[in-house]
Parts: sequence; structure tokens; C-alpha cells
Amino acid sequence: MREMKVVALSIGHSPQDGGSVMTSRKHSEFSFWTAHIGKVKDELERLGYEAVVCNRSEAGGTTPIYAARRCNAVGADLAVEFHFNGADTGIGGTETLYWYASKNGKKAAELIQAAMCDVLRLPDRGLKPIKCKSDRGYYYFKDTRMPALMLEPAFASSHVTDCDRLEERVDALCVAIARAIDGYFQQV
Ligand SMILES: [Zn+2]
Repeated sequence: MREMKVVALSIGHSPQDGGSVMTSRKHSEFSFWTAHIGKVKDELERLGYEAVVCNRSEAGGTTPIYAARRCNAVGADLAVEFHFNGADTGIGGTETLYWYASKNGKKAAELIQAAMCDVLRLPDRGLKPIKCKSDRGYYYFKDTRMPALMLEPAFASSHVTDCDRLEERVDALCVAIARAIDGYFQQV
């Protein structure tokens, strides 16, 4: 029998800082994903995975390095951290971040990015390889011992269309992300 794969579903930011806030003012990144991540977990469990919802503060801090520590402690085969984006330039769309040197991280990123774009139908801003200390989440990607991603499905803190779309379609998005994770494990 196949060993059950473990997926860490890491909620970005922390109860202390929350991250950015939606244009609707309804949620921070942390509170939004706290409210919705259970749907990703449920679908993964239905598909035969162990899914562990976790966050940085459980490892004792609020910065990305604590997300890495927590995902390592979980013993995950894949780590996915959930965010939403913001910019002061008016741009919108969907991005997925991965560690530049991880082939499997890139594979998972391709599958989840395609799944998110398919549901949200926002501009596809593609995959963002993380390599430099100045890049977003550098220490999360550097210190995780498994392929690791950060998901930025929409510019929900700066773009009203992105925020509306994310709120309207989050249930379908959660299911699509879980199914893309399943697709990844079928391929590696
Ligand atoms: Zn964030």
C-alpha cells in the first residue's frame, strides 16, 4: 500500500500581524485563510492525503523562517503557504512562488498556478522563482526541507475586482488547489 503523503497547509502571516487587509475590509490574509483553508484540507483528506493546517506562530515567530520550521516539524512531503497580494500600481492577477532550485517545487507550482487561473480567471502573472534574500519569503523557501510554495491567487488588498473574485470563488478555488496537489503527487 502507498504510504500516505502529508501536506502542510500553512496560513500566511500570523495572528499577531495578519498580513495585508482585503479591499472589502472583511479579512486580513491570516483571517481569510483561517476561515477557508479547511476546504482544502477536507478535499485532500477525501483524496487520501494527510493535510495539516499550520501557521508560523506555532513555531514561535511571525516571519517566513518560522513557517519553514513548522512545515519541517510536520514532516510534510509538500508545503503550501496561503496569502493574497497587494500593490500600489493597480496591477492584478494570480502568482505562485517557488524555490528556484526545486524541480518538484516548480512542477507543483505549475499545476497549482494553472488550477487557480482556471477558477479565478484573473490575469496569469505566472511563476515567481525565489532566489535572493530580498525576494518574498526567502527563508521559508531556503529552509523548508520539502518542495514549498507560496500562493498569491489575487491582489485582494489593492484591486477590487481581484478581491471580489477571490471572495466569490474561494470554495471552488480551495477544491481546485487540493486536486492540483493530488495531480502533483500522481506525477512525482
Ligand atoms: Zn502575504
